Amino acid sequence: MRAAQRLNGLRESFIREMTRLALTRNAINLSQGFPDFDPPPEVIEAAHRALDSGSNQYTITWGIPALRQAIVAKMKRLYGLDFDPNQHITVTCGVTEALMATLMSLLDTGDEVIVIEPYHEGYVPAIAFAGGVPRFVALEAPAYTLNAERVREAITPRTRAIIINTPHNPTGRVFTRAELEGVARLCQEFNLIALTDEIYEHILYDGLTHIPLATLPGMAERTVTISGFGKTFAATGWRLGYACALDPLSAALRTVHDFTTLCAPAPLQAACVVALNLGDEYFLQLRRDYAARRETMLSILSESNFAVRPPQGAYYVMADFEGWNFDGDDFAFARWMPEHLGVAVVPGSCFYGTPGLGKRVVRFAFAKKLETLNAAGERLRRRAM
Ligand code: PMP
Repeated sequence: MRAAQRLNGLRESFIREMTRLALTRNAINLSQGFPDFDPPPEVIEAAHRALDSGSNQYTITWGIPALRQAIVAKMKRLYGLDFDPNQHITVTCGVTEALMATLMSLLDTGDEVIVIEPYHEGYVPAIAFAGGVPRFVALEAPAYTLNAERVREAITPRTRAIIINTPHNPTGRVFTRAELEGVARLCQEFNLIALTDEIYEHILYDGLTHIPLATLPGMAERTVTISGFGKTFAATGWRLGYACALDPLSAALRTVHDFTTLCAPAPLQAACVVALNLGDEYFLQLRRDYAARRETMLSILSESNFAVRPPQGAYYVMADFEGWNFDGDDFAFARWMPEHLGVAVVPGSCFYGTPGLGKRVVRFAFAKKLETLNAAGERLRRRAM
């Protein structure tokens, strides 16, 4: 028995390995990016109601009409984007499936996809499963800026698409209009499709705004805008996301979605209608809560010998561990931390495809209760003194 060649070089997620290490060492898990608190009670109640009132069978493969309508209304209200719920919205099993379905529907064997690094660990396997090849373009240190000239250098006649994640995991960058314009120009010049991962669209700091790439001139027809419910509503285990795209992109990805997962979980789709219709106050409070978590995380890190740049969005921070005078790379440090510091993180190089990058940083995820962060802080400060 041998596995298919397209799996060559792929391995189990290191983030999930760190989560297991955290469990066996009884460490506080700041590695995997999931909240340790629950979705809003109204949303949980809506899921209960849906289960009790017969939402237990397959839904229309694209998602229940009420949810597609709520997504269309949201895209119009927040970003001025126009979609038809019957044609352009596909509810998926998380952002992971939306990206996978889009890549499968787009790539021929050997087609190239530009991946901005550091990148979310799911992108490279998804490209490989779809038969494609990633081409990495690194954000520029120290501020992690996106330089369109570097992107241009990575484009070849085989380039089909680019993945843009903003707010960005793991750096916390929120790309500026100028950075996105650089990408938009290249997409038009080289006829590329943009896949956006906007899963952190509501988690922003310092009054920054999120700009969907699809809102830039000329981009609506060549962008698949992807987002999800897991982060905004603290429901990562519900596996609910969606893709918004005009045709022919939408029709193509729907074909893959239909025959891979058939539909997203029916009762949870019903609950997500309630989630999307929570008033503005929910989203304002979400920002306030994350701002408090970010401040707590940043003080802990600066008081325990880590050098950091405040994230502009999302809920991660890349921390330079130079100050620990540790004899070893990021993997060694991240494997040492759960046992000796009682806190689990992710080695920086996991987020890079280019060898040698990310070796002096580890990623902390701070989607945690303040008490969890403070408990981690006590452990880190104790050892740092
Ligand atoms: N994209 C990014 C940037 C993420 O951080 C995550 C989760 N950590 C995902 C996608 C996966 O999203 P989902 O759980 O909706 O599949």
